[in-house]
Amino acid sequence: RSFEDAGMHPTMLENVKLCGYHAPTPIQSYTIPAVLTGHDVVGIAQTGSGKTAAYLIPILSKLMGKARILAAPRPNPARYNRATDAVRAEPLVLVVCPTRELACQIFDEARRLCYRTMLRPCVIYGGAPRKNQCEQLEMGCDVLIATPGRLMDLMSDANLLSFNRLKFTIIDEADELLSEGWEQVMERLFSGPGNLDMNADDDHTYLMFSATFPKSARKLARDYMEEGLVKIK
Ligand code: AMP
Repeated sequence: RSFEDAGMHPTMLENVKLCGYHAPTPIQSYTIPAVLTGHDVVGIAQTGSGKTAAYLIPILSKLMGKARILAAPRPNPARYNRATDAVRAEPLVLVVCPTRELACQIFDEARRLCYRTMLRPCVIYGGAPRKNQCEQLEMGCDVLIATPGRLMDLMSDANLLSFNRLKFTIIDEADELLSEGWEQVMERLFSGPGNLDMNADDDHTYLMFSATFPKSARKLARDYMEEGLVKIK
């Protein structure tokens, strides 16, 4: 399979080429068509397999078709005045991962794949001042990449961050997150609408990527996800 055959948005195809990706990796060959057709996916894949692009490409491609309607209002960065221009961040996509390093890598990839679209990615993580991250959120956010502690922290301020527009939830390196004791947070993110004040529409897509597939991850998948297991070793 080639990227051209996947049926993605033309701007996404151009951005994929600009990233220097010529052919999909195995995890991408399975995941891209599955997500484009609206399936939940569990991907068992290691770092280095191209798993980040495997979920970002189809998700952003789907959103690009509607970006003009969906994208967050974006204050002009040159004339941005926090007191008067700040907006509440209402992301369409939430990616949760265990470390700051991984969050920054995912953010980098999201930035490249969002090039020349109206979609704006933001990254939040612990171990750094909240102020800068809050300011980034206040300038509008469509794709939020977060580590769980800082996410819980900033989520508690409903004026800053709301999930009422969320359409895609991705748990990356789920086995790491689960072994570090974030199980309840994962459950809360996956159990969705009631808990997160999300719109209770049933077209919400859940994706989970993990290097291993321990019992706790299996349970999460069984309880909350609909179908599709992609295993790439
Ligand atoms: P990941 O597994 O998401 O950490 O990706 C590992 C590396 O592979 C990253 O540096 C990506 O930029 C790169 N990559 C992802 N997809 C492709 C592809 N289709 N062709 C070549 N490189 C890729």
